[in-house]
Amino acid sequence: LAAPSKDQLQKVAEQAHAKFKDDKSGKNADYIPALAKVPSELFGIVIITKDGDVIKVGDVDTPFSIQSCSKVFTMCLVMQESGDKIVYDKVNVEPTGEAFNSITAIEEGDGRADNPFVNAGAIATVSLIKAKSPEERWDKIHKTYEKFAGSKLIVMPDIFKSEADTNFRNRGIAHVLFNSGNLFCDPLEATEVYTKQCSVGVTAEQLAVMGSTLANGGVNPITKEKCIDKKYVPKVLATMTMNGFYDGSGQWAWNAGLPAKTGVGGGIVAVVPGELTIVGFAPPLDTYGNSVRAQKAIEFIASELDLNIFGST
Ligand code: GLN
Repeated sequence: LAAPSKDQLQKVAEQAHAKFKDDKSGKNADYIPALAKVPSELFGIVIITKDGDVIKVGDVDTPFSIQSCSKVFTMCLVMQESGDKIVYDKVNVEPTGEAFNSITAIEEGDGRADNPFVNAGAIATVSLIKAKSPEERWDKIHKTYEKFAGSKLIVMPDIFKSEADTNFRNRGIAHVLFNSGNLFCDPLEATEVYTKQCSVGVTAEQLAVMGSTLANGGVNPITKEKCIDKKYVPKVLATMTMNGFYDGSGQWAWNAGLPAKTGVGGGIVAVVPGELTIVGFAPPLDTYGNSVRAQKAIEFIASELDLNIFGST
């Protein structure tokens, strides 16, 4: 199948934006109070190809919190630093079929966190970073995200404070993991650094550059910097396919057929391996905590352009 041209991509992205911009379904996350205040009508779509073409429609320059889309890039950091086996062995890579913040999932089985994209697994992944202090742990994450994005990124202070003041559930999860030997640094340190990584502000365009690095074998197509070894990329994308939408992952694979990761800030980053990335951003979420309009837009684009990875004909 020929790769779509830049004009084709622009046209389909504009169609997707027009088709779903007035869709009012879903609701902003409100368990993190600051997220409830983000304007619900924001809606942006960005596509970036492996050649570095950038297609943008709508609210693509408004920073929003990266939230769980961050989990992908912390997983990349740990693999790059310590290999892929440590993630496979210490966190595991199985879907939970449970909500992103499930506690029951870590009570079942052998006590491991299940996969790096549910909260438990993401906090465990943070704890696997080699660091002598919380500052060093955070610094490694921050530098990794900036390399993937090819630009400066900052923590959104209101989002961080709001989540840090209310994240008792994540602190609980970290302690349960630590108690069973499945968290590898101080549990409050892991939760704090995890909360910070979720509060990093990105525009849809910055998140798309991050994703495009995974569509391009680990090399940022804009800055040409290598961010992760090529051999790890299929493992990251496989994990996104199996777990990127938590208990909605099966439906997403069925509907879109693309590895992708969502965040409760309203972002979704999807990857067409070896080709391009599609980012959708719109704050209102479905009951699984995944952006409604971003899902619809990406599904539409994938279907119009025949991008489903299971549909190669
Ligand atoms: N920071 C959020 C949390 O821990 C991330 C959740 C998400 O984006 N699904 O609850």
